[in-house]
Amino acid sequence: MGENVSNKKIIVIGGGASGLVAAIAAKYSNSMVTILERNPKIAKKILATGNGRCNYTNVLATEFNYNHPEFVKPALQVLNPEATIQFFETLGIVPKVEDNGKTYPLSEQASSFLDVFMYEINRSNINLICDTFVENITKKGNTFIIKDSNGNQYTADAVILTTGGKVLPKSGSDGSGYGFAQSLGHTITHVFPSLTKLKLDYPYLKQLDGVKIPGKAELIYQNQSLQTETGDVLFTSYGISGPTILQLSRKAIDLHLNHQEVFIKVTLVNELSKADVKRRIYQFSDKSIEMCLVGLINKKFIPVLLKEVGIHDSSTEISQISPKSIHKLVELLFDWRFKVIGYKGYEDAQVTAGGITIDEVNPMTMESKLIKGLYFAGEILDIDALCGGYNLQWAWSSGYLAGISASLGD
Ligand SMILES: Cc1cc2nc3c(=O)[nH]c(=O)nc-3n(C[C@H](O)[C@H](O)[C@H](O)COP(=O)(O)OP(=O)(O)OC[C@H]3O[C@@H](n4cnc5c(N)ncnc54)[C@H](O)[C@@H]3O)c2cc1C
Repeated sequence: MGENVSNKKIIVIGGGASGLVAAIAAKYSNSMVTILERNPKIAKKILATGNGRCNYTNVLATEFNYNHPEFVKPALQVLNPEATIQFFETLGIVPKVEDNGKTYPLSEQASSFLDVFMYEINRSNINLICDTFVENITKKGNTFIIKDSNGNQYTADAVILTTGGKVLPKSGSDGSGYGFAQSLGHTITHVFPSLTKLKLDYPYLKQLDGVKIPGKAELIYQNQSLQTETGDVLFTSYGISGPTILQLSRKAIDLHLNHQEVFIKVTLVNELSKADVKRRIYQFSDKSIEMCLVGLINKKFIPVLLKEVGIHDSSTEISQISPKSIHKLVELLFDWRFKVIGYKGYEDAQVTAGGITIDEVNPMTMESKLIKGLYFAGEILDIDALCGGYNLQWAWSSGYLAGISASLGD
């Protein structure tokens, strides 16, 4: 850290993931930095990430994990996953890389981030002002004027807007930043919740409520599989959830909102072939259909699947069931489709799809192309990715680039 303090006054609006890294990067570049955060404490959403463990990066992340690869590329080059791990190691976070590159703090506590950020803010003399809800940002000449709901007014040479998207509004990110960006001339794309649970049109959901299976789920559009995910699938009273479904939700919701018909295909039997299953069924021709399926699939599925193929009594012997019904049943075990009719909203989602349109932002600096001295970072921009540490990686990388650029920009 340099000792010389430049005359540049930078205000970071939002003390979340991207704002905190932006503030530190700007401070390391010798600016005078103030963070304005509406909550009594910073980093509220970080505490909820990764089921309280914070999957803070993914060592395999590249620009192709994001919806606009070309736009994210420069920021990821400035702070890639390896550099991110180093950055946090200097703050005190010891990394633990798990399956598929997902990286967590060795402490297994997302709260470690709150602790190291608070320590660094104090150590490097960043001015943190909490309980401050920013209401208005204007620019007069070369000076930004920021007003909060307590009647205070702040001035700055540069502003970094990092108020996040709209998910988990109780964490403080409720989309208020979009209004500031719009008032300064920016355009907001269509925004919707992503990485969330899906609502299905299916009459027997209540009977399946709570059944969790390690399986395979696919997104089907126009009879084609658009995306396949393996892992846990969880049936609920309104539809379907689990890590596989969150990953499929981005494309599913986008198509659904564009009035397209999409289906989730679930494969209940992954270890055997259709021929194996058929052979097994006919091997027990004197047994009931229920006893044939027990031990193959979760018992709660049996009455529902039998209803689907028109078998009304689960004690019916295999020999009494038509080959057509057996064929249909076996097909369903490998290809069970459910129509998507909706999704759980911002309270349940993990990321906002859409945001400030990227055409209006310089990806080399994160500066607005419309207002000199105005910078953006994190989820407020039209950038999102799947689960796996990519969204926080974007927050850190874009925050870091914005912090440096805001300090160095003239
Ligand atoms: C439940 C959950 C789990 C997640 N898990 C992971 C994970 O494990 N890995 C991963 O990569 N991503 C995860 N994410 C996504 C990740 O947390 C976000 O993408 C990331 O936090 C976005 O950072 P941000 O700085 O843009 O916004 P935020 O972290 O949302 O921060 C915005 C800040 O701005 C403040 N603010 C908003 N408006 C104002 C205002 N008007 N005045 C003052 N302050 C304001 C807010 O209070 C908030 O502190 C998860 C998200 C959720 C909801």
